[in-house]
Amino acid sequence: MKVFHGRTDGAKSELRGETFSGEVWADPVMPATDGVTINTVLFAPRGRTYWHTHEYGQVLTVTAGKGWICKDGEAPQPIRQGDIVFIGPNERHWHGASDSSYMVHIATSLGKATWQEEVAEKDYPAGV
Ligand code: MN
Repeated sequence: MKVFHGRTDGAKSELRGETFSGEVWADPVMPATDGVTINTVLFAPRGRTYWHTHEYGQVLTVTAGKGWICKDGEAPQPIRQGDIVFIGPNERHWHGASDSSYMVHIATSLGKATWQEEVAEKDYPAGV
């Protein structure tokens, strides 16, 4: 057992680049522990992940704002504060803020993430 009190001591918020579009900040909550990583992620309006998968899945807990979750082959679904999203192992997906609101979620990621291409502008919805 390990207890992590609040965010990781001494850690800095990280401005994410490579595999995110727009302005996205991540704050470590629990460093990788037996394959489980927890981050608080803040997406500025229009900020979003690239397409990706998680080896053993991911749980998103939306704590503020509004945004989108999208599974490959399906229409993006709106998400907002209080919503929980379960993403299965190796399900190709993206998540991010709406175009009119920031979105903050806690991301509990299981196993390795595999990053793919960015979400095309035509596939990023307007609204919410
Ligand atoms: Mn994900």
